[in-house]
Parts: sequence; C-alpha cells; structure tokens
Amino acid sequence: MKSIKFYIDTVVFLDYLEKRKEKSIQFISNLSDNNDWIGYTSWFTKLELIENEQALKHMEKLALEEHLTLTEIVRKREQRQLTKEQLKHEVDVVDRFFKKRKINIDAPKENVFNLAKELQSRINISAKDVIHVATALENKCTCFVTGDTDLINTLREENIINATTPDDVNKILNNESFLYDPKSKPEELRGIVVAILRDNGCGLYKRCNECGGIIYKGTCTQHGKVEIYYDLCIQMTLYDGIMQYNLYLDKEKIEEFFNFTLDNAKEIATEALDQEAVLDYLERKLKSKYFVVKAIDKMNWENRWYVLSIKHDSEVTNKEIVKIHEKWLEINNTS
Ligand SMILES: [Zn+2]
Repeated sequence: MKSIKFYIDTVVFLDYLEKRKEKSIQFISNLSDNNDWIGYTSWFTKLELIENEQALKHMEKLALEEHLTLTEIVRKREQRQLTKEQLKHEVDVVDRFFKKRKINIDAPKENVFNLAKELQSRINISAKDVIHVATALENKCTCFVTGDTDLINTLREENIINATTPDDVNKILNNESFLYDPKSKPEELRGIVVAILRDNGCGLYKRCNECGGIIYKGTCTQHGKVEIYYDLCIQMTLYDGIMQYNLYLDKEKIEEFFNFTLDNAKEIATEALDQEAVLDYLERKLKSKYFVVKAIDKMNWENRWYVLSIKHDSEVTNKEIVKIHEKWLEINNTS
C-alpha cells in the first residue's frame, strides 16, 4: 500500500489534548502506529493550540483560585492574565506533544501565503482555515482531516482536496473516489454504454460500518460479522467507436444524474427479493444509449474513470448508435 499523507486541522488535535472525541483520539493514535500514514500540519496549528491551552489555564485559574461562577468566567474569558511561567508552561505542553509524535510541522513559506490568497479569491473560506488548506495543498497531502463539516463540504464541492472527519477516515480510504486526484483535470468522453459490470461491489451492495470496506459473503475481511450499510455504484464500459473506457459512478453521481436514489434501489431489491434486480434496472436505463461524460482519469492501474457528470446526447441518431455497437461487437468477437 502506498503511503497516505494526512493534513490534520487544529480541532482534531484539540479533541485529542482535551480528550473530547474518541474518534479523534483513535485517529491520532493510529497515525503513530501506522507506518503508511504520515501526518502534516501547519506552524499555525501550534500557535492555535498554545493559545487554546493558555485560555484553558486562564479559565481554570478563574474557577479554582478566584472561585468565579461559570457566567463570570465566560465574561472574563478574554482578559487573560497569566504569568510568564504559566505562559511558557503551556507552550512546553504543546511542544512536548509534537515531539513525541511523527507529525511534520510545516514552517512559514511564501508559497503557502500565495496559495492561500489564491484560494481566498475562489472560495468562501476564513483566513484561519485557508492557512491550513494551503499548507495541505503545498505538502501534497492526500486527505484533509478536520471536525469542521462546513469546511469539508466546501473543499469537496470545489474539488480542492479530499476532506473528511476523523470518524470517517477509514471509510474514505475504502472509498473509490479516494483513488482519484480531485485536482486533476476532467476530460470529456463520449460514446455508448456497451457493458455493465456485474461483480461484488456493483449495483446495490453492502459496506462495513466500521471501515467502509465492501462486505463479501456477509463478512468484512477485517472486522468479520459487523453492522452494514448499503451503497450504490455503477461500473460500466463506454465505447466511442475507437476507444473503450471503464467508468465508475458512485452513489452521489447516480442520485444526481439519473434521478435514482439508494432508497429506490432498496425498493427494487426488496420487491424482486434479489439485489441483482437493481443492476437489471440500471442496465435497461443505460445500455446502448449515447452519453457525454466528464470524468477524471484513473489514479490506479486500471483503466478506470471516475465520473463527475454524465448526460444523454439526444443529437446522436439511432443509426449511429447501432453502427458503434456493431463495431464493438465485431472487435470483441474476433479478439
Ligand atoms: Zn470492516
């Protein structure tokens, strides 16, 4: 397995230091234990963590030494009056935390500054967040880990970087879309759908609730018998008369472009008492029809394209479609 570079946002470290969220604690520990995982963060994270530790110390003093009530503490939160020793102590706490862990701290760089400004001109993002995102991009991190779901949505929608919460790190690693680089340039492909793959993990299928891995024969290869959730995908071959492309459509894309939801798929499977019925249904909708597709090139060894958008091309006549289809059949019978 190739190594994975994670960018870790301040909030995830805070969860760990304050022992707030089990999944964040687990993720930071996994990062230390897993040799293929590499952690990155910004110098700015360190400053944010120090500030936070000092603020906590301040509030602790208000509560324990001055015996203030919660309302009074909240009111006086901003009026920090720590001694030099106390300030230094909190800096040491954060320094020690990073010294013990193999997390790369990115030093201030002009590139990151320029990249951050460039991002600010394209997406709605705070100055604080944009430092983290620009640092992640500069270090070519594969995944941005944060607790901030609004930020995750922005980064995904704008195709800036793969982003996820610590809870879903394992799930995203098992997700097909993770194999594709969101920054690579989409290409336009045209052609007719000549085949739909029928395999485990096609159509309506089950994933492990722990790791998101595909369930084979009722069990997860890592976790055995587990709680599952359903997912939906189409893998199919598009042929343009010369080249053929293996397309991968995940649940989000199927729901967006075919007006067909996971719930619809479950209904079909339940009615037919057969999960295969979903593939039958999709095959009728897709096969021998002409599509225009925007897709990102494979990142792994297969000739597989991750579909970003797909639509019918009604300009193409039936005669042309038949011609392309016959050509494909010809090639596949002789080879
Ligand atoms: Zn599993």
